[in-house]
Amino acid sequence: MPYAYNPLVTEQTTASRIHADRAAGTLEIGWADGHETTYDAVSLRWLCPCAFCRGEAGLPGWLDSRPTLSPDQTHLVDVQLIGQYALAPTWGDGHHTGYYTFALLRERCPCEACGARRVRDADRAPVPRPAHADHGHRTETVTTTAKESPR
Ligand SMILES: [Zn+2]
Ligand SMILES: [Zn+2]
Repeated sequence: MPYAYNPLVTEQTTASRIHADRAAGTLEIGWADGHETTYDAVSLRWLCPCAFCRGEAGLPGWLDSRPTLSPDQTHLVDVQLIGQYALAPTWGDGHHTGYYTFALLRERCPCEACGARRVRDADRAPVPRPAHADHGHRTETVTTTAKESPR
């Protein structure tokens, strides 16, 4: 996927409230911009970004083989905060190597509004709009902040 996360910490990727409900098997995140995200444990397990689950160096990961996840594997045991940038859940099978960055957790937010946004983004990305769709004259300003070092 040619998508690079913006490494800048914004309100959208800052968690102001994190609540892991082990009994219900949910992870709730309240964001600094007011948005609320709730993951169920199964969806969260499928998102695991670790090398084992996702694969590395072009090789498919374990989750790419579409395994049937056992109740243990989707049982949220604990969630650890990694610095200010990621969460690392521990699963019932002992798996704990997935560092879910807040950028990832926000990007993959399962709520309806975010789902609709992702569909729009996917629509927009690959093909340029046909010329006749140019109704609103939007100007895109590209700001470059590259400093020239004085010589
Ligand atoms: Zn994993
Ligand atoms: Zn959302």
